[in-house]
Amino acid sequence: MGSYACTAETDGRGRCRNSGLEGDGDGFCAFHAHERDGGKEVAKAGLADVVLVRFNLNNRRWQDHLIQLGVPYKDRDFDAENSKHAAHAAVVGRSADVRGNGDVAKDSGVPVFGKPGLNRVSLHEAFLDLFATYEVVDMHIKPARNARFMSVLVVEFKHGCVPQSTDAAFKEVLEKLVGSCWEYVHVWANPPQADGRVIHTVNSGHHEEAEEPKLALRLNGGLWSAEKI
Ligand SMILES: [Zn+2]
Repeated sequence: MGSYACTAETDGRGRCRNSGLEGDGDGFCAFHAHERDGGKEVAKAGLADVVLVRFNLNNRRWQDHLIQLGVPYKDRDFDAENSKHAAHAAVVGRSADVRGNGDVAKDSGVPVFGKPGLNRVSLHEAFLDLFATYEVVDMHIKPARNARFMSVLVVEFKHGCVPQSTDAAFKEVLEKLVGSCWEYVHVWANPPQADGRVIHTVNSGHHEEAEEPKLALRLNGGLWSAEKI
C-alpha cells in the first residue's frame, strides 16, 4: 500500500496533498498536526458529491455482455477531456499533467493511497458503503484511453437522484465485477470543480477472477480506507 493522504480538508472542500504522518491519530500531515496541536480546529475532508467508479474491462466478453444487458456505450472526445483537465488544473493552481496513456493518472487530484494505489482489492464492501450513501445515477461504457484495455465501465454515484433502471446490468456488475479481485485500485480525491462540486474517482484495473483479494476498500465517510481481509 502506498502512503495514505492526509485527511485534512483544504482548497474549499478538497483534500490535503501531503502524506499523513504514520501513527497520527487523525491521519494528518506534519503541517495539519502542527495546526491542531497549536489549538486550531482542523476540519477533515468529507463525502464527495459524486463518486465515479471505473472498471477497466480487459475482456471483450464483458463489454459485449454489459452492452447486451442495456448498458449504453458512449464515445468520448479525448482532446476535449484533455483541455478541460488542463484548464481545471490551471484554475486550482496545479500543473496539468495531460498524458495520453492512462485513465489512472490525474495529477490535479490527490491519490488517496499514494501513487502506487492498492493491490489485490475487493470492491464489494465499497459498493455496499456507496449504496448506503448514494444512488447510482448513471452507468455506461466508454473506450479506454489506454490501448492495453478495451473499454471502461463507469458507474456514477450521487446524492438524491432518481436511479437509472439498469437493474439487470447492475446486478451482474455487483456479482461479477465487484465480488472478486482487482489487481490495481486507485482512488482520487479531486479538487472542487468550478461550480464547487467535489468528485472522487475509483479506478480499477486487471480483473483477476482466480485471485483472492487481500484488501477491502471502504468509503470511510469520504476519506476512504483499506482493510485487510
Ligand atoms: Zn495535511
